[in-house]
Amino acid sequence: MKIAVLSRNENLYSTRRLVEAGRARGHEVEVIDTLHCYMDITRSRPAVRYHGEELPYFDAVIPRIGASITFYGTAVVRQFEMMGTFCVNESVAISRSRDKLRSLQLMSRKDVGLPRTGFASKPDNVKDLIKNVGGAPLVIKLLEGTQGIGVVLADTNKAAESIIEAFMGLKANILVQEYIKEAGGADIRCFVVGGKVVAAMKRQGAEGEFRSNLHRGGSAQLIKLTKEERATAAKAAKVMGLNVCGVDLLQSKNGPVVMEVNSSPGLEGIEQATGKDVAGLIFDFIETDAKPHKTKTKGK
Ligand code: ADP
Ligand code: GLU
Repeated sequence: MKIAVLSRNENLYSTRRLVEAGRARGHEVEVIDTLHCYMDITRSRPAVRYHGEELPYFDAVIPRIGASITFYGTAVVRQFEMMGTFCVNESVAISRSRDKLRSLQLMSRKDVGLPRTGFASKPDNVKDLIKNVGGAPLVIKLLEGTQGIGVVLADTNKAAESIIEAFMGLKANILVQEYIKEAGGADIRCFVVGGKVVAAMKRQGAEGEFRSNLHRGGSAQLIKLTKEERATAAKAAKVMGLNVCGVDLLQSKNGPVVMEVNSSPGLEGIEQATGKDVAGLIFDFIETDAKPHKTKTKGK
């Protein structure tokens, strides 16, 4: 098959692994720089141009769209969809996953385990917002944060109030969330491909850190998932309409809760922690599922 990896940088581990795994299976794989694509939106003949030429037809596209280029990146993915190319994650699902609030709203409707979460822009009653998610200690998050930046733990209601008011003063949209203390600064990354959890790792935050992000000095290890954790991750992926994604779970005393679903999950940490050929599994999925004109908006 002729397959494109949409990525800003061909030297990134995930991009390199996808190219390597695809070629090892005999596919023709190319890296296309998302921001260098430009589009021809003409009646009945959509095309993508690149370095002065029209790109050939690809059987499949693997989008690796960074959070900072979501708007343009999803437009490029959508253009491939218009041409009938099978996109491993569809544009609508990628956009949806980039909005934490929209994601939580959709998952809550489908009864996926979630931390109690409040959202506000200009609450007239900050105390009630805090009370509503069970009071301190609680976690306050910037809606647009990534890699653990903009995630703050407030130990007391007083601290929570000040932090919320400070964020409000900056006109930032925020989530106020129950603190899952029993998670012990760890979370579980479930890697889902084609509706199944194919690999999982537990990430532990650095000493004294409640955030488990590897970018914040956390470490990863192999974990055996419970049936409930596996089912929760698969359901989250389904509700989000993502064929390939990373579902981050916290182990709460009431069972697994989903914190986030990532539509361009990194391969390095998960392949190293589990020793699995996750890139290869993505190609297994493409080989069985990629059909032209198949993209239609999924997710609930
Ligand atoms: P980001 O998208 O910036 O990584 P997250 O919402 O995933 O932000 O939070 C970063 C980390 O903080 C998580 O991986 C988790 O370890 C910790 N964390 C986030 N929310 C909670 C919570 N409600 N309770 C306990 N720990 C949390
Ligand atoms: N199918 C979902 C709905 O009808 C999609 C909404 C979304 O992605 O925000 O609510």
